[in-house]
Amino acid sequence: MVFEDKTEHQHLILFDNPIFGRVLALDGIVQTTERDEFFYHEMLVHVPLVAHGAAQNVLIIGGGDGGSLREVLRHPVEHATLVELDRTVIDLCTEHLPGLSQGAFDDPRTQVHIGNGGRFMADTEQKFDVIIVDSTDPMGPGEALFTQAFYGDCKRCLSPGGVLVTQNGVPFFQADELTRAGRRLRQEFSDVGFYTVPVPTYVGGPMTLGFSTDNPDLHRLGTDVLAARFAALEITTRYYTPHVHRAAFDLPGYITALIP
Ligand code: SAM
Repeated sequence: MVFEDKTEHQHLILFDNPIFGRVLALDGIVQTTERDEFFYHEMLVHVPLVAHGAAQNVLIIGGGDGGSLREVLRHPVEHATLVELDRTVIDLCTEHLPGLSQGAFDDPRTQVHIGNGGRFMADTEQKFDVIIVDSTDPMGPGEALFTQAFYGDCKRCLSPGGVLVTQNGVPFFQADELTRAGRRLRQEFSDVGFYTVPVPTYVGGPMTLGFSTDNPDLHRLGTDVLAARFAALEITTRYYTPHVHRAAFDLPGYITALIP
């Protein structure tokens, strides 16, 4: 055990596993591991940013481990704002899981707000090109990030043609959550899709991520366009490729059946 305690908001454990390396769990639920974090963070970030093609202002809600922020900063963004409820998550992950943030919290483009993402979205007048909800599941502190009001605030704070991506769990076990999120997102956005990413530590098959926008072209970008944009970034990834980007939106029947 590297660390175990209750923070101001949740129970936090950091421990070492012989297969997955160092593991972060919050309220008893594995959040991320050294060994397989790249599957999730690459797909949560590069799908919306490559699809958008010119994001300058990116917002991450949650993401206190720093993995999503690290990937966002590999794009030529001007500002990356991260709103994290629990300062202790950032401090402990920076200290004990430094490979996730890799200095991202110290990047001059980064701005960190400590607070409830639901409150932040309700109060802010800022506009963002891409909003990434990298939260825990819809229980406890995370619940505020799955409400109709929250999705409406995200819609209000997206610049024209912007994209909201959301962490929507493992549908094999969290079917109702996916259905509820799909229904609520469709209330706010004209074009709502879901894509999948396998995360070895999340048993139950692939995880679904929501992709919501009012710009239907973003869903229809050809692999050639995605490949040209990705090549221009001159970054290497271990899971994301332009072909995987496109294919991830092709869903198996049991997941399609859950989406209203
Ligand atoms: N990678 C994980 C996953 O796959 O689901 C998510 C990782 S990240 C550690 C989740 C973060 O969301 C945590 O740091 C937690 O403190 C934060 N969080 C939960 N509820 C929040 C809220 N209402 N506002 C802001 N951050 C929140």
